[in-house]
Amino acid sequence: MKDQIIKFLAYNGKISVACCSTTNLVEEARKLHDLSPLATAAMGRVLTITALIGAEMKNKTDKLTIQIKGNGPIGKIVAVSDKFSHVKACITNPHADLPLNEFGKLDVGGAIGNQGFINVIKDIGLKEPYIGISPLTSGEIAEDFANYFQTSEQKQTAVALGVLVDKDGVRSSGGYIISPMPDATDEEISKVEKAIFEAGAISKMLDNNLSLEEIAKKVTGDENVQIIDTSIEPEYECKCSKEKFADGLMTLGNEQLTELIEEDGKAEIQCQFCNKRYNFSKEELEEILIRTEK
Ligand code: ZN
Repeated sequence: MKDQIIKFLAYNGKISVACCSTTNLVEEARKLHDLSPLATAAMGRVLTITALIGAEMKNKTDKLTIQIKGNGPIGKIVAVSDKFSHVKACITNPHADLPLNEFGKLDVGGAIGNQGFINVIKDIGLKEPYIGISPLTSGEIAEDFANYFQTSEQKQTAVALGVLVDKDGVRSSGGYIISPMPDATDEEISKVEKAIFEAGAISKMLDNNLSLEEIAKKVTGDENVQIIDTSIEPEYECKCSKEKFADGLMTLGNEQLTELIEEDGKAEIQCQFCNKRYNFSKEELEEILIRTEK
């Protein structure tokens, strides 16, 4: 199945649902960062929520950055998306490992930690970016984001994120966000709550080859969900280039660049989002120095 986000309306437009599968892009992240199974599950969940929130943006140049920093052994995860859900991420400790939790599952909550913060930064072309902050509650990511939506955006939502990893890599990955419209009744909301409970884990449903539409029906309890948008196909994408890193070197300023040229005579920079390496020779660094002097 290709990676996709599909937006639905259930209960005659009163409940909105965005469902996504991210199996391929999370596998790509696993390979690029050489992630442990635990780090794959953690980064996979973060990439999935980033793709889902990214898909809500309006303009081509809009940019979403999500930072999660807890007190667990993973360190910090940063993920970025554009409105097409082209995502990328970096992580402090890609090889983090912990014993399975009490349910026999990868202990993502322990890996992220339950003390710390989520930062959601939306740069939508205004003078200042929008910044939302909320504390981590469990480190399991989905719960933390439901809490974020509640406290920072005053939105009641149900968030589910799941990654199934085995020794060969990512078997399935995906998630959904369900939010009631203002006219949703209490009865409809409790039907959805019951349906979510009965549906089980999203990664399991994807692993059983359920389509996103079948999943949307299951998690809402509405057989007549309406498809609103099928256009978004999330992907792992890093657009780094030597030119961009050269611009980055320019911001070091005259003094530091001169020092770098005299002491090291070269520079090697590794992109933290895709691990590609870029080498700058002494001559190239000198050219960059001349450009800073202009
Ligand atoms: Zn890169």
